[in-house]
Amino acid sequence: MAEGEAKEKTPYINETLPERYCECWESEDEDEPGDPDCGCGEEREIVDWRWKLPRKSPRWADLFEDGKLVVFHPLFSSGSATVRGNIVLKRNYNYYWEVKMMTHPYGTDVMVGVGTRNIPETVRDYTSCIGNSHDSYGLSYTGAICQNKEVVDDCPGFCKGTIIGVMVDMFRGTLEFYLNREPQGVTFTDLLRHKTLYPVVSSTAALSALRLTYASSWESSLMVNSARMLAASESGLKFLENMPPGLVSTMDEHFWLVMLSAGRVEPRPIRKRVRECRRF
Ligand SMILES: [Zn+2]
Repeated sequence: MAEGEAKEKTPYINETLPERYCECWESEDEDEPGDPDCGCGEEREIVDWRWKLPRKSPRWADLFEDGKLVVFHPLFSSGSATVRGNIVLKRNYNYYWEVKMMTHPYGTDVMVGVGTRNIPETVRDYTSCIGNSHDSYGLSYTGAICQNKEVVDDCPGFCKGTIIGVMVDMFRGTLEFYLNREPQGVTFTDLLRHKTLYPVVSSTAALSALRLTYASSWESSLMVNSARMLAASESGLKFLENMPPGLVSTMDEHFWLVMLSAGRVEPRPIRKRVRECRRF
């Protein structure tokens, strides 16, 4: 069990409501798991890796859909559980994956992020497992972006039907979260100090489910840098619109290579912050 969990935490308050990716999730029915059979945002069917079941017992998560869907605490919740991806993020590669929140997130925390193998798979306490130490970086459904028990930045967070994107650049060592493909800012820039990093999700909520809907990578290269620079300028966008057909399908499969970044966010360690409303 992580030390210091007994310390009283200031509840995190975020005034901006999270949004769903598509209209399929507009129903007021909050029955779990509540999957309206929505495949929006999953059209490319590219998922390069899967979630991996925790090794130890008790196992507080189950996997379905060939390892893409993770359901936490299938019967009831006795604490916090974390599930890792079955890949190690390699140096000099760019990664982007998306996770769709399939159920209504509630309780202490449901988180998406990146971490080392030091994150415990189970904790008999209700805690925010990712971003709880130097070993992990996490985005909470409340909108808190955390590392080492501190809220470093915030964003609207996520709800049932939100697509959460994680962009990791293992050449520069940076991490940026996306919500419904909108960039939330490069919050972390020190990822290269870790030897091994994995994608991770965690939850304290019974019957909470997240589906890995897209996962891809690309080795850092002049092509990646050029594509990003082109995407960031108006004349460059025109160039990208007139690419040869072969390149068009490559760029569509790896659409994230030209997704805009919100840029660097200066770290501002805070325990509690009420954010200003922001329109999308
Ligand atoms: Zn949909």
